Amino acid sequence: MIQRVRLQLVLLAAALSLLAVVISRFVIHAERIELSSTGELVVVTLIVFGIALAAGLVAIALVRRQLRELVEATVQVARDPDLRVPIDANAPRDDEIRELSEWVNFLAKDATKSHAALAREKVLLSAVAEGLNQGVIAVDAEHKIELLNAAARQMLGVSSTPVGEPLIEFMRVPAAFELLEADEAASAEVQLPSGQRTLIRVARKWGSEGRVLLLEDVTTMRRLETVRRDFVANVSHELRTPVAVIRANAETLLAGAKDDPVMAPKLIDGLHRNAERLARILADLLDLSRLDAGQYRLELTTVRVKALTEQSLTAVETQAAARRVTLTVDIPEELTVEADPKALDQILVNLIDNAIKYTRAEGHVWVAARIDDEHVRIEIRDDGPGIADKHRVRLFERFYRADPSRSREAGGTGLGLSIVKHLVETMDGEVGVEPNTPQGSTFWLRLPRSPTP
Ligand code: ADP
Repeated sequence: MIQRVRLQLVLLAAALSLLAVVISRFVIHAERIELSSTGELVVVTLIVFGIALAAGLVAIALVRRQLRELVEATVQVARDPDLRVPIDANAPRDDEIRELSEWVNFLAKDATKSHAALAREKVLLSAVAEGLNQGVIAVDAEHKIELLNAAARQMLGVSSTPVGEPLIEFMRVPAAFELLEADEAASAEVQLPSGQRTLIRVARKWGSEGRVLLLEDVTTMRRLETVRRDFVANVSHELRTPVAVIRANAETLLAGAKDDPVMAPKLIDGLHRNAERLARILADLLDLSRLDAGQYRLELTTVRVKALTEQSLTAVETQAAARRVTLTVDIPEELTVEADPKALDQILVNLIDNAIKYTRAEGHVWVAARIDDEHVRIEIRDDGPGIADKHRVRLFERFYRADPSRSREAGGTGLGLSIVKHLVETMDGEVGVEPNTPQGSTFWLRLPRSPTP
């Protein structure tokens, strides 16, 4: 465009100069002005110079107007890279304004592409961050939040993403801020105000002063570690006594007591009782480990509750008779549940056996069942001393006993109720314990009803 304007102006200036020469000669002759040829030349030169100057000024004004238009169009594009600078299609390819306009459009197109790519990456990044089980927090150099994914929001108990707010407002954990101040990547296990044990790892953000915090909830892991440690300690403790008794009795027998008609039967009886106890502990441990490993195969079928309960009672009748405990069964004939008969028998024997063991001598044990919505509720009640609140809440834990010496004396392993709970839950049921009125305990379980066959 500039070139075209320039060419037009040069042609115009040449034409005007020619015209000026003709006019000046005409004027000189018409007015009969006597001028030397040098004077004539000066006049013509001045007129030509004047015309050329005027043409130059017009050309500059025109180019300035075009540049102004280009600047305004460029500003619009800078504000909205989707816009484009208009191109004069008639201008030659090497016209500077056209070239400049094309480059501005090229840069705008490039910026649009980069914006789109950045937006895609941002969406991808936040989708990945949102989907992570780990909490992710990104902060700037002043510890103001830039990103807080769903897991982090949940851990900190925040419902929205407070971008731009100081992290300290939402995470009052001094140890975490010590990590943020560290020059290198660092980690620490902390307790969040919610009580969760959390492993925090802090990494520098690439190319900036900000930091990224990764939060991992290790509460369950730590609890399981404690449970496992306690379990091993409890097993060793449980095995120690019978093993010690067996060893001591055997050693005494070997040392000569085997020939003592009074001592020998007592020592052998001790051997037998403690060997039985070891066998019971091992059997319960085996059941638990099979249940934990999912190897305890349950086959759910329709089970008549009354018939099965009567069968279970045969296993405890001798013991009930020994303690002169009265057993009463109150179960409607037609009641059926969806259960594994072997597992349900093990559950009932365990609960009825406990009721007989822990109720008072000459006490009473009731086994009752009734429909409870889509379930059947089975209750085993006794009128014994009952269980204190503080014990009741922990009774289904492995090796937990309300009265350890009573339990051991009665041949208990402390594992029965934890096996019961595992079995009931594996059959989609629930189990619990509550006080019986006026005295004693009520152990209950709910199992899914099944239609009468
Ligand atoms: P144990 O082998 O010791 O009987 P369980 O797991 O079966 O182990 O029971 C755990 C503890 O619960 C028992 O040691 C006892 O203290 C308490 N318990 C269970 N049933 C009763 C009950 N019917 N009355 C009072 N205490 C009970």
